[in-house]
Amino acid sequence: MRLSRYFLPILRETPKEAEIVSHRLMLRAGLIRQESAGIYAWLPLGLRVLNKINAIIREEQTRAGAVEVLMPTIQSADLWRESGRYDAYGKEMLRITDRHDREMLFGPTNEEMITEIVRGYVRSYKDLPLNLFHIQWKFRDEVRPRFGVMRSREFLMKDAYSFDLDPVAGRHSYNKMFVAYLRTFARMGLTAIPMVAETGPIGGNLSHEFIILAHTGESEVFCHKDFLTFAPPPADIDFENPAALEEVVGKWTSLYAATSEMHDEAAYNAVPDEAKMAARGIEVGHIFFFGTKYSEPMRAVVNGPDGKEITLSMGSYGIGPSRLVAALIEANHDDNGIIWPEQVAPFHVGVADLKQGDPATGKVCAELVQQLENAGLDVLHDDRDDRPGAKFATLDLIGLPWQVVVGPKGLADGVVEVKRRRDGARELLAPADAVARIV
Ligand code: ATP
Ligand code: MG
Ligand code: MG
Ligand code: MG
Repeated sequence: MRLSRYFLPILRETPKEAEIVSHRLMLRAGLIRQESAGIYAWLPLGLRVLNKINAIIREEQTRAGAVEVLMPTIQSADLWRESGRYDAYGKEMLRITDRHDREMLFGPTNEEMITEIVRGYVRSYKDLPLNLFHIQWKFRDEVRPRFGVMRSREFLMKDAYSFDLDPVAGRHSYNKMFVAYLRTFARMGLTAIPMVAETGPIGGNLSHEFIILAHTGESEVFCHKDFLTFAPPPADIDFENPAALEEVVGKWTSLYAATSEMHDEAAYNAVPDEAKMAARGIEVGHIFFFGTKYSEPMRAVVNGPDGKEITLSMGSYGIGPSRLVAALIEANHDDNGIIWPEQVAPFHVGVADLKQGDPATGKVCAELVQQLENAGLDVLHDDRDDRPGAKFATLDLIGLPWQVVVGPKGLADGVVEVKRRRDGARELLAPADAVARIV
């Protein structure tokens, strides 16, 4: 991608309204733009990161056996009256009336709608288990939208919903998502700790929040420090083997970890002092098992082997991809800007031409871009006519993992400069070696 043809609106000034570093950097690096309170447009660079996060989530959901669908953002109030949540949900729900005076709402979550879909088609015990997920915009009229996309009113959510014949099978489905979540966050370079959590308006009594520790996090959490050393489950784990999953979940729930709402002072006191960690964290995912809370009032039933009706056991599983973009920045930045982990970086490499218009630098840049792209990498080619200092600052700010700087002085010696953003390590290499270094 040529920067001269791209849309990368960088802000020179630090926006005053942004209180935390991720919000400041997302505005400055041209990732998002606020359109109304808590409502954001995603600009090209931000959208690339969001899409990379979604791709990882999608792969891990699929690996765990969930099947993708796409439900609408607008739902009917009547559906929510069936579960009894229409009135109970309160002011966070954005209620809408259409031209025929029908009551609608912008979905804050989809338990009712997915239950309606499944009851419409699934008739037999043979069709289960089933887990359906989508990645769709949600709206919650948060009292205090803040910190940019960390707590916005419109936000993206991956939400999955499992349907099983009984609570034991339902627990296996819950464990599948638990394990998939550990892998999902680890693949983004994040350590998310599963913590015993409150279930709130979703319901049920088994629930874990996946929390990333960060001093700007809005949750107060208490946990055993050894979680930070646990290795995530491998890609080839057998999701159809309940015992294998129980082992992983058992390990990841063997030590104390709870959010403040569920904090048990006595249990926490049993943690050795040197292992105690009272910290702040960001909720990036939340899984629930609530059995028949929706299937019972909404009559989602199937015929069992003996012809008798069985009410489905359900769970739901949320991840916030848009919040994750901000959480990733909270975990990966320095004074100069963002430092994207390779897996979610908008581009892997930035190639900067220090003397735009010079045939020699231009030729080498074009060759480098071609070779890096042939190797499957996303490359941003800074071909604008700008001062070298401004180019360096932009590349640092937008946080691409690798920078290749091509200037006439270096080329006279046959070299370009390769800089790794994370630690600032620089090397002078021949162009072919530069490609080999990065690929
Ligand atoms: P919070 O405690 O932060 O208000 P929640 O518990 O209300 O979140 P859930 O209903 O568990 O959220 O939704 C699943 C996921 O959706 C959350 O774990 C989070 O990643 C994301 N999410 C929820 N609310 C927001 C929001 N206002 N802005 C961005 N992401 C959100
Ligand atoms: Mg909330
Ligand atoms: Mg919460
Ligand atoms: Mg939650």
